[in-house]
Amino acid sequence: MEYNVAEVVNKVIEDVKVRNKGESEFHQTIEEVLHSLEPVLEKHPEYIKESILERIVEPERQIMFRVPWVDDNGNVKVNRGFRVQFNSAIGPYKGGLRFHPSVNLGIIKFLGFEQIFKNSLTGLPIGGGKGGSDFDPKGKSDREIMRFCQSFMTELYRHIGQHTDVPAGDIGVGAREIGYLFGQYKKIRNSYDAAVLTGKGLTYGGSLARKEATGFGVIYFVNEMLNYHKHSLEGKRVVISGSGNVAIYAAQKAQEFGANVVAMCDSAGYVIDENGIDIELIKQIKEVERKRIREYANRKDGSQYFEGQKGIWSVKCDIALPCATQNDISIEEAKLLVENNVLAIGEGANMPCTNEAVEYFLEKGVLVAPAKAANAGGVATSALEMSQNSMRLSWTFEEVDEKLKGIMINIFEASKNAAEEYGHKGNYVVGANIAGFLKVAETMMSQGII
Ligand code: NDP
Repeated sequence: MEYNVAEVVNKVIEDVKVRNKGESEFHQTIEEVLHSLEPVLEKHPEYIKESILERIVEPERQIMFRVPWVDDNGNVKVNRGFRVQFNSAIGPYKGGLRFHPSVNLGIIKFLGFEQIFKNSLTGLPIGGGKGGSDFDPKGKSDREIMRFCQSFMTELYRHIGQHTDVPAGDIGVGAREIGYLFGQYKKIRNSYDAAVLTGKGLTYGGSLARKEATGFGVIYFVNEMLNYHKHSLEGKRVVISGSGNVAIYAAQKAQEFGANVVAMCDSAGYVIDENGIDIELIKQIKEVERKRIREYANRKDGSQYFEGQKGIWSVKCDIALPCATQNDISIEEAKLLVENNVLAIGEGANMPCTNEAVEYFLEKGVLVAPAKAANAGGVATSALEMSQNSMRLSWTFEEVDEKLKGIMINIFEASKNAAEEYGHKGNYVVGANIAGFLKVAETMMSQGII
């Protein structure tokens, strides 16, 4: 049977919008991914016949739950918890937990959907999932964070497991939170299932280099992409949004490759330091003291602080690394970056550029390292953490870092080759989507209608 592929894709997108009202971020990723898959569907009409698209856009399971907890003043608080188990074709659900007041079902679904393709790209046996809560960790005491995490896990534990679903960190969830979550899981289950969570502390099953992995991976990918196009990171001006886990280690690795990182931000404002951002100072302020980035300008001579986060994209740079949150770069920021002759974008955050911004970059010949590929190093190293837990041994930092590097190079190759094979040479956005999709689609075909 002959299909009109564009019509088929549009119909699935329209149905998603009708059935998932108001979930704008989820609609955004569905549109971006599904349109890019059109050349694959032309070649594989059997995917249309077997309704692979209709099935892949529907989560296998979504869980929402009440998370009650008591603050330090004895007040009862209630947050909402989420876990979306999107696709388990190639392995147990895997994906982080985000604690941020902006979290809602649509955000978790967009992240879970992207995770399917990202996890597939790593070449490791992990399915896609994501979770979190609208809880705001900012300004909370350690005890409040602990009580919240314990309450959250008191429900989540029944849905996860090392062969079922393995959460990790994301915005607002780092080693401290994973520690409290793991402690509660262990207590409830009365079982030391180390591989049920990743991003754990090094004293209880965590992997060396997991903390660094997402940021390092972004730079390994960007470096591969630049080299392929006869450029390098050496001497390039780099601007990075965010100053959290991904941003910090992307900055560190970019500097190791000889780049000059001149600006970073948090949600309140940004700092410019023409002499190169002092990463150890950022770590001290953000990781240790948990303070605002404005502190950096107070402590570092020659640096300047500016209010407002988006202003960071007016800072001239060769390479822009959005590592904060979704839709950080819209068309206005994209135009500004192009005016300033940006060479490449490396997406450290998930969906940090709007679809319009990405199209504009590609149209103007800017190289784009898409999130699903560029930030896959975190989840890949989480899978390495699971392997070490299963084997009950720990690899050295160098061993894990070497494996991470190899995985990022493979992801670049896979994205490059898929883009070429399907007629979009140099478009790594399309290439990553296609390469990630093919393995999942083939697997879904072989596992029947489930
Ligand atoms: P963190 O919580 O460690 O850091 C987030 C950073 O972004 C903070 O500096 C935060 O500032 C800043 N930010 C600016 N604006 C916003 C906003 N509107 N909402 C939330 N944060 C904002 O998170 P991560 O570094 O772990 O994650 C950053 C991005 O990378 C996310 O998109 C995440 O999904 C993605 N990612 C993370 C992975 C990981 O391993 N951690 C793996 C793959 C992707 P402030 O402190 O003021 O809130």
